[in-house]
Amino acid sequence: YAVPVPENEPVLSYAPGSPEKIALKAELKAMKSKEIDVPMYIGSELVTTEKKMRMAPPHDHKHTLGHFNYGDASHVEQAINAALGAKQAWTELSWEHRASIFLKAAELVAGPYRAKINASTMLAQSKSPMQAEIDAACEYIDFLKFNVDFMTQIYTEQPESAPGMWNRMEHRPLEGFIFALTPFNFTSIAGNLCAAPAMMGNTIVWKPAESQVYSAQILMEVFREAGVPDGVINLIYVDGPTAGEVIFNHKDFGGLHFTGSTGVFQHLWKTIGENISKYKSYPRIVGETGGKDFIIAHKSADAKALATGITRGAFEFQGQKCSAASRAYIPDNLWEEVKGYLLEDHKTIKMGSPEDFTNFFNAVIDEKSFDKISKYIDAAKDSNMAEIIAGGGYDKSEGYFVQPTIIVAKDPMFTTMCEEIFGPVITIYVYQAERFEEALELVDSTSPYALTGAIFSQDRYAIELATKKLVNAAGNFYINDKPTGAVVGQQPFGGSRASGTNDKAGSMINLLRWVSPRTIKETF
Ligand code: NAD
Repeated sequence: YAVPVPENEPVLSYAPGSPEKIALKAELKAMKSKEIDVPMYIGSELVTTEKKMRMAPPHDHKHTLGHFNYGDASHVEQAINAALGAKQAWTELSWEHRASIFLKAAELVAGPYRAKINASTMLAQSKSPMQAEIDAACEYIDFLKFNVDFMTQIYTEQPESAPGMWNRMEHRPLEGFIFALTPFNFTSIAGNLCAAPAMMGNTIVWKPAESQVYSAQILMEVFREAGVPDGVINLIYVDGPTAGEVIFNHKDFGGLHFTGSTGVFQHLWKTIGENISKYKSYPRIVGETGGKDFIIAHKSADAKALATGITRGAFEFQGQKCSAASRAYIPDNLWEEVKGYLLEDHKTIKMGSPEDFTNFFNAVIDEKSFDKISKYIDAAKDSNMAEIIAGGGYDKSEGYFVQPTIIVAKDPMFTTMCEEIFGPVITIYVYQAERFEEALELVDSTSPYALTGAIFSQDRYAIELATKKLVNAAGNFYINDKPTGAVVGQQPFGGSRASGTNDKAGSMINLLRWVSPRTIKETF
């Protein structure tokens, strides 16, 4: 039984004069020249309210892109009722028809919606054209297509049967509704947190991050045009705690699909735990959370490749990828050479609006984030245990701009070495080259997270040692590459420890969390 074989979506170049560049520029201009009013999507209704929240590009925060309609607890109730009302028909629709809807969504993103979804991600989240293309277009298309392929495998593989009997497995959706609670930083993740459980026959209440609403509503338009029936995915804009209060007290709460910070996830898990006896079934809890992703170099590493890995790993999308490198351990024999390359690379990073396609580096997401990151930079400025060797500046007069910043820490436990900053700041600790094993110990014990990490080395024994010693330090481990840029279908993505439940986004593992299998044995 075969669905169309998924292939990773090719990344378009956006070269001068290319059709994709012309289309994207036109879309950016259109979005900037017209203020929109974004409704909530509940069942078949487009819901507006009295309370309007302003949307502005992080790199140009005086400009108004439009407003979204802000709801309250009553809208959360309505969305739950719409999800429950749509459930039976959606569950009874054959999985092939559900698959077709999401394959059509992938084609819509690849074609007519590509410029829209990329432009909205550039404006709302301040992503460069290339970062928007690899997120909102390519990764999202890959999530949809590969998940449909995994879904086919789940529904078609059956257990063995001994003579005289027939064993069957039914992959039922979970009872109740699923709450998709999504982060600002990846449009593809927001779409996938809804699409993955929905394709397995579940219905969804979706609350995106407020700074991602512009691109969230484009995702919603795609779902609707692809044929996702009313009530299957309900998009609400409500304050997180208000949504949580209604949802986690509801007897039909069936599961949480979350990506965001560790603190919020732990709080939600506790709330669910406190309410556990209210629910019909134990809810599924899937969460991908924070990180303090590392790069460790061995004395044999290629200094140039290492420096490139640090620059790209730490500063693409302003360090706001959950996988972004934010601490690095460099042996002293390589340090001067690596430092030279880092400073050279740093000079080439052009910061500014993503609407100017020559800028590699744009603004951070909002004022709260700007303030948090700049406090960490100040901590380094004020300490005699750290030195800023590049960047360190910040300015929020036009947009939330923080320079890509490289800190060298004398103490491997310096605050910026341990805590998630979620911005363009990398801290480097230079260790004595002969004490590689101790450096591995530091990597493993310095932070509670275990999302991504990388070893750079030309020595196979060192690579093997690092792979073994760091077995629990990262859910995605890279050898001689930056720790970002996982590709759906190639490197299933997710972390453990304080970084998440490690249910590997874009994999069969994740899809299996959204079903509750029933085994049937029939004897003849
Ligand atoms: P966040 O935790 O602030 O918000 C995530 C979502 O939860 C948002 O929709 C937010 O409105 C909502 N929320 C916040 N507090 C809430 C509450 N008390 N009750 C209910 N809902 C609440 O995260 P963010 O700033 O949007 O995203 C950045 C974080 O996400 C970083 O920590 C990053 O590491 C993490 N992240 C992890 C992965 C991964 O795969 N591990 C991927 C992307 C982002």
